[in-house]
Amino acid sequence: MKISLLVISSIVSLCLVQCGRVRDEAAASTAGTTPRAKPVILVANYPLKYFAQQIGGELIDVRFPAPANEDPAFWQPDDNAISQFQKADLILMNGASYSKWTDKVTLPASKIVDTSSSFQSTFIEEKGAITHSHGPGGEHSHNGIAFTTWIDFYQAIAQAKAVRAGISRVRPDDARTIDANTERLAAELGRLDNRMLAVGKRMNGQPVVASHPVFQYWARRYGINLKSVLWEPDEAPTDKQMEELKALLATHKAKWMVWEGVPAKEGAEKIKRVGLQGVVFDPCANNPEKGDFLSIMKANVEGIENAFP
Ligand SMILES: [Zn+2]
Repeated sequence: MKISLLVISSIVSLCLVQCGRVRDEAAASTAGTTPRAKPVILVANYPLKYFAQQIGGELIDVRFPAPANEDPAFWQPDDNAISQFQKADLILMNGASYSKWTDKVTLPASKIVDTSSSFQSTFIEEKGAITHSHGPGGEHSHNGIAFTTWIDFYQAIAQAKAVRAGISRVRPDDARTIDANTERLAAELGRLDNRMLAVGKRMNGQPVVASHPVFQYWARRYGINLKSVLWEPDEAPTDKQMEELKALLATHKAKWMVWEGVPAKEGAEKIKRVGLQGVVFDPCANNPEKGDFLSIMKANVEGIENAFP
């Protein structure tokens, strides 16, 4: 009895699915329409690309044209990339002084979502950071508003919700899918946030050094007593940089340096000689070579948990 009911209900639901499909196809063919093109969404960095893909999935076409070897915060897009942004159905910006190029380029204001605007009153302003260069973009400065907003995972959730609002605008009929996807992503970010809050507590204010001034929001959210130098993971520190580090360590007695990428061997050995161990926390602003945003953030958090058990 039970089995036959199950069979009947399967047949009924199959029919509902099939009949629905036939009806949709019939409607489409009588209206003479072809399947609607996916809205094109341009993004300012890889975290927003990941958020959009997680939230919009197959409903959207996400594009992030920055080259792999550039820091998207300082990247200067060429004419082709700028025209892609100008023609997009939706533009997801990081805000917080990210994408310096937008100061000089006009983008359609109605298409832009500034994903950090909900917490702009608590932006951190960096003063006295020295101009330096890394990557092919030439010199840059970290003076002004700190922009690595998403490694405060609580802020990342706010950015994900802004992405949801943007995608809902270009896919107004898919609210249920979009909301469910957003909830799933927000839950993952929430788990990372809780783990970092716990390890931040265990660190209990002990001094830590960062290789580059990109960890401001992370340090604030998780109560980390952090001071930065201006190093690049792939460049060996110079004698001058080592002297500056030693001077910093005299008053800020750190045992760990947080690197934004895996350090070159020479850098890793040099910090060992001044009593520092290294741990990597990759902000993942650009497309990762391996894994994705979530797997990299999980590895980052695990590294900090192992350093401060
Ligand atoms: Zn820099």
